[in-house]
Amino acid sequence: MSDGERVPIGIDPSTPSVARMYDYYLGGKDNFASDREAAEKIWRLVPEVKQIARDNRDFLIRVIRTLVDNGVRQFVDIGTGLPTQQNVHEVALLRAPECRIAYVDNDPIVLTHARALLADNEQTIVVDADLLRPKSIIDHPDIRKHLDFGRPVAILLFAILHFVPDDAEALKIVNTLRAPLAPGSHLAVSHGYAGDLSDETIRAGQEVYSRASAGSVVPRTADVLAAYFDGLKVLAPGIVPVDAWRPEWDEVKPDFGKPGLLGGVAEVP
Ligand code: SAH
Repeated sequence: MSDGERVPIGIDPSTPSVARMYDYYLGGKDNFASDREAAEKIWRLVPEVKQIARDNRDFLIRVIRTLVDNGVRQFVDIGTGLPTQQNVHEVALLRAPECRIAYVDNDPIVLTHARALLADNEQTIVVDADLLRPKSIIDHPDIRKHLDFGRPVAILLFAILHFVPDDAEALKIVNTLRAPLAPGSHLAVSHGYAGDLSDETIRAGQEVYSRASAGSVVPRTADVLAAYFDGLKVLAPGIVPVDAWRPEWDEVKPDFGKPGLLGGVAEVP
């Protein structure tokens, strides 16, 4: 999207959107000047940010394949993001054509793109809902119609929970989403992690995100994330930097010193 291009109704191009900033990190075109400006500020603070975004997408692909291999055929992807290469439904359907996917987001541009992308796809639906109201997701009539919660469902929370500023609220959201899951269901999370960034850099990054659509960003540690998986069977290798979660080719040693995203996947017993 270049400047001067038509702006869809209901879109505010002057407020950076976290979805469009992330699109910019990934080299996408669905972003405005305000998004690029904010994203570049983050990039100057955390020069690895583009690689971090790519690592997260690669993690997402490996997780979806693992979930399908574990017997999951139903997915709720909360915080879908703008379409990129190998979206959740594409990875899942390629592995098991009977998979059913519900995409959930609250960004109008994400919803517009997702609906356009999925116009001819009966196995995938797009739902406008807010993570901060998790019951409105899990009880959503479209989701309940599309998916059978009596059978395994995977709840996907990739690069979204760090936009919930309060630790207790983030945990409550996860527990609300987990509550209706049948045995064999899974929870998959990736979450911003500061590594050894200085407090000053973290604060400067938070300042940039405080002006963006989600209003905040809060990095958390593996200890904090562990509570999201309490009582579940966490899959090996546990909660690690996403690039070290079951890497496809070479072995990657988990490096907790660097900033990025931590990821974990667990099964409901
Ligand atoms: N899950 C994708 C995209 C991450 S970008 C990936 O990991 O590659 C974060 C996404 O979360 C954006 O699309 C943004 O619009 C969405 N998001 C942020 N806060 C949200 C909220 N409160 N409710 C619903 N979606 C939200």
